[in-house]
Amino acid sequence: MAFLRSLRLRLTLWYVLLLAVTLAVFSAGVYLALRENLNSNLDSSLEARASIVAGLATEDGELEVEHVEIDGNDVGDDEFTRIFNSSGGVVFDSSGGDPAPVVDSAAVERALAGERAYRKIVFGHDNLRVLTAPVLSDGEIVGVVEVGLTDEDVRSTLRSLLVIIAFAYPAVLGVTSAGGLFLAGRALSPIDRVTRVARKIGAEDLGQRLDLDLPDDEVGRLARTFDEMIERLDRAFKRQRQFTADASHELRTPLTAIKGQTEVALQRERDPEAYREVLRGVNSEVDRMIRLVGSLLTLARADAARIEINREDLSARALATDAVEQVSPAASEKGLTLTVMPGDDVRLVADQDLVLQLLLNLLDNAIKYTAAGGAIDVSWRVADGQAEIAIADNGPGIPAEHLPHIFDRFYRVDVARSRGEGGAGLGLAICRWIVEAHGGSIEATSEPGSGATFTVRLPGS
Ligand code: ADP
Repeated sequence: MAFLRSLRLRLTLWYVLLLAVTLAVFSAGVYLALRENLNSNLDSSLEARASIVAGLATEDGELEVEHVEIDGNDVGDDEFTRIFNSSGGVVFDSSGGDPAPVVDSAAVERALAGERAYRKIVFGHDNLRVLTAPVLSDGEIVGVVEVGLTDEDVRSTLRSLLVIIAFAYPAVLGVTSAGGLFLAGRALSPIDRVTRVARKIGAEDLGQRLDLDLPDDEVGRLARTFDEMIERLDRAFKRQRQFTADASHELRTPLTAIKGQTEVALQRERDPEAYREVLRGVNSEVDRMIRLVGSLLTLARADAARIEINREDLSARALATDAVEQVSPAASEKGLTLTVMPGDDVRLVADQDLVLQLLLNLLDNAIKYTAAGGAIDVSWRVADGQAEIAIADNGPGIPAEHLPHIFDRFYRVDVARSRGEGGAGLGLAICRWIVEAHGGSIEATSEPGSGATFTVRLPGS
């Protein structure tokens, strides 16, 4: 059913249904309580009458009907008083006896045996409630008194109540349905607004926001959460686009260089040494592309969480020594001093291959950017329960304004110099991914002119 797809209608329907049931139970309760109360009042009146009549009839100590006088009024159909003697014969009947209410001899018998009984009879146009009770004199049952009273008052009061309920019930339901519909509409209309605006925000215009001025309630929070989500998506999309653009750009540079060199070489016949020269150039560009594609692949797999991390207990000293050994030919070729600082070993829990790659990236950079004659130190220590490894160089350092960005993908401080060294600005991005994947941190500090220090913190053991 289509209308059940509207939360507003469903809410109102439930609300009205609940109210209908509650009202019905409440009305029934009021009706039953009132009926009970009115009937018991009627019974009290009957009791009072019976005892007055019994008192009058036994004024002289025995049953004497001469004393009985009922208000002096004409007695109508709607009430009667009757007295029976001890053998069950009628000795007084206020109704005049023509026609008289039917005598229930069983009730009279029981009253003569000391029981009081109520019953209902129809007399003339009236329903009468009748009390049959023994008449006592000095503790002896000397007769029976029977009083009847119409219950018309009770019935008419109850009828009025029913009429009130019959009108009020649908009226209350009608008013509350309309009110419920209105309130539900008011409460839910912001959701419709959110839906309308959200529909307009496509994948291509993630720059849009709901920006709805809603109070800080459930719907307001939903709208704000939605905006935050779009914001994150927008950033992710932008990053992705930027990444693709940067990657294409980085790949085009070596391809353009190759194209240039081969085209020049093909323009005319050359000697073998010239061809070899071109091939060496091409080869070094291809090397750069292989490194670049390798880095891109690492980051893509890292993004897709497809790199498994095998945590093991490792020695910082062993890792540093291993990394330093691998890069020392490059360092000595450039005339740099590489030192593994002495000190107690520190244990860390991490993936050996990844941490080695991290240290190699940092050492590569230090070697790349430090001028001949410079020095690079590798040291470690325990800091706040974590293993801290620091690689410090005395190269040119990194200007403060670049420090916050150097771990970003494709970020280079000095593009010309960095590319000359073969870097695409991905090395530190990979380093950051590796430490974050281990729940660690990486930080770069630099005093301009006095070198840079990269400090890595990884979980200790
Ligand atoms: P690249 O592959 O270009 O070296 P990285 O992500 O490894 O890219 O480094 C980003 C930038 O940080 C580099 O372009 C470089 O300018 C700067 N950088 C990194 N390490 C050092 C260092 N030890 N000394 C000075 N600058 C550095």
